[in-house]
Amino acid sequence: MLIYGKEIRDKIKERVRQAVLRKPMKMAIVQVGEDPSSLAYVRGICRFAGDTGVEVEIVNLPEDIEENELVKEIDVLNHVPTITGIMLQTPLPAHLDANKMINCISYGKDVEGLHNYNLGKLLSRQEGVRPATPKAVITMLKAYGIPIEGEKVTIVGRSTTVGGPLSVMMTAENGTVTLCHSRTRDLKRETLDADILVAAIGKKNFITPDMVREDVVIIDVGTNFDEAGRMFGDVHEETKAKARIASAVPGGVGVITVAELFDNLRILGEQ
Ligand code: NAP
Repeated sequence: MLIYGKEIRDKIKERVRQAVLRKPMKMAIVQVGEDPSSLAYVRGICRFAGDTGVEVEIVNLPEDIEENELVKEIDVLNHVPTITGIMLQTPLPAHLDANKMINCISYGKDVEGLHNYNLGKLLSRQEGVRPATPKAVITMLKAYGIPIEGEKVTIVGRSTTVGGPLSVMMTAENGTVTLCHSRTRDLKRETLDADILVAAIGKKNFITPDMVREDVVIIDVGTNFDEAGRMFGDVHEETKAKARIASAVPGGVGVITVAELFDNLRILGEQ
């Protein structure tokens, strides 16, 4: 069975809309250069903002901006009281250190939950904002009534935005987590062991049917594009057909991720 994110997104949207009625919110998006995939993501954010009444300010900066200039731009936004959240659109040009720049955002305005302060709160299991994509994965499982507690959760991909924080969040949900990456010795053995398999690799159709059991639940985080611009996940369609439950791509986790960004904005506004 394929599962989708639209209804979940709409519920979060309504929650954010109600929060904006209580207290105005404004998100600043810092965009360096003109990466086409990041422009599409920003358009999605603007649509969601329009539906919820959140104000958005896009700060376009040149591709060759110096690091110290970017720091100054972020600092200005940190001090604007009406701006309640700041997002730094990645990937950044190679001469800029994304992690360093994210840590220049005031942690109280860190809508992506990627500032070291907020990641520290995640590790120590204090309430607060969480990285949007892992949060979307957990939200999706809960919305479909799929238990995590006690389950063997195998995550393929250990990035600091998706797989890494997700492993901590799944552990906090009492899953038993195996975090795999490109140096994992026998990946197939790990994926076959999974009750819940999360694919966050960035390689089209990477997870093939021989790598999963029939009773597995699969969450496919991957977003890959072919030359015609069609979107594919990291999990092959035949693998999804074999699984008990699998999330769709497109229309799955990605749809919820933008909503979770705004849910973080709501949480920051209420802190
Ligand atoms: P990333 O930073 O490139 O990380 C990819 C991870 O996959 C790394 O940990 C890498 O291992 C691992 N990997 C690569 N090849 C592997 C292999 N052959 N076997 C096992 N592991 C392997 O990517 P990301 O930012 O986490 O994104 C992952 C995917 O999710 C991408 O398709 C991205 O577009 C998508 N994404 C979707 C959303 C959404 O909302 N749906 C949001 C964010 C990202 P090493 O660490 O050893 O290199």
